[in-house]
Amino acid sequence: MANMIMRFPGGVPKALTLSYDDGVEQDERLIEIAEKYGIKGTFNLNSGCFPPEDVAYEKGTIHRRMPLQKAKEVYAKSSWEIAAHAYTHASLVGLSGNIATDEILHDRKELEKHFGTIVRGFAYPFGAYDDRSVDILKNCSICYARTVESTHDFHLPKDWLRLPATCHHADPELMNLAKRFAETKDWWDPMFFYLWGHSYEFEACDNWDVIEEFCKYMGHRDDIWYATNIEIYDYCNAFNQLIFNTEMTKCQNPTSRGIWFTYGEKDVYVPAGAAVTF
Ligand SMILES: [Zn+2]
Repeated sequence: MANMIMRFPGGVPKALTLSYDDGVEQDERLIEIAEKYGIKGTFNLNSGCFPPEDVAYEKGTIHRRMPLQKAKEVYAKSSWEIAAHAYTHASLVGLSGNIATDEILHDRKELEKHFGTIVRGFAYPFGAYDDRSVDILKNCSICYARTVESTHDFHLPKDWLRLPATCHHADPELMNLAKRFAETKDWWDPMFFYLWGHSYEFEACDNWDVIEEFCKYMGHRDDIWYATNIEIYDYCNAFNQLIFNTEMTKCQNPTSRGIWFTYGEKDVYVPAGAAVTF
């Protein structure tokens, strides 16, 4: 048998996604910069923390959450995913089970109502989680949950409910990792770059050039799929549902999305709901 490697949509070997938390005003500028280079990702919001519509922040306030109407306008213009981040931004660790469940489910419910979407992603407030948090997320039908751990690597996660990032944008290794990711060819595995942070940090550190440089370097490449977190999760999940014969010459795709992979020297595409011989 030959080696089989999952490819991303279009047959490309790499995927890049961003993940930014808290729903702050600076997200608007982040969207603008990322989308200029064809990059997108996911915003993790706390639906119990929207300030009043007429909020006026004191001069010098950096962490400025957007009121709901503003958030709706900003995110509706983008192609980013909306995910949950706990209703009141409470750490799930240490809360009683019913309260932790409510933090997740209440957030999901409110975000789904406000943004007209199905919310299936999550980022752990303060990066805090334990085995019980993972069980509770599963019971709330959350598919993936981002931690604040950095791998400095490009593997897809083994456990989507303990999803680590490649790095935070303030990581001194950021551009070295980006270069390694962009320049590597013929890896034995699908390559995945996951960047996270808070957009207000760019204002706090006066370093918007960090994300501009990253996006400019990583954007508009032929061999990278630019996607939201859930798009990548759903694609991997669909790939895992492919059905093969024992000779590895036939593949059936029972899912609703086209799937790409390489088998030995062959590039194979299996359209949604179709069966192919390769
Ligand atoms: Zn947060």
